[in-house]
Amino acid sequence: MSIKIDKEKCVGCSKCANVCPGRLIYKDENDKAYIKYEKNCWGCTACLKECSESAIKYYLGSDIGGNGACLYVKQKSDELNWHIIDNDGNETVINTNRKESNKY
Ligand code: SF4
Ligand code: SF4
Repeated sequence: MSIKIDKEKCVGCSKCANVCPGRLIYKDENDKAYIKYEKNCWGCTACLKECSESAIKYYLGSDIGGNGACLYVKQKSDELNWHIIDNDGNETVINTNRKESNKY
């Protein structure tokens, strides 16, 4: 499992890098975020919750049946909208209160 960052969407705010507990996210020469040491990502989703541009996707590993299934977050006022895309491309959205998001 790991994340992927869409450099087209990234605005270089550094919020993802600042919250990553493993210090796995860096910025390139164009001020775009990227993950170093992908294998060390343990999927805490902290970076997804911080990205206002929905530039980060979290992928389940093929070892646990991921096969392209992924997750990304959209921020909406006091909500976080968790978009879950399964192996067949079907999308499910779960909404959580931002203030309570660390419960999940
Ligand atoms: S939080 Fe999102 S927009 Fe900000 S640096 Fe990270 S990927 Fe880019
Ligand atoms: S999911 Fe967690 S461990 Fe992985 S890059 Fe994001 S903040 Fe770091």
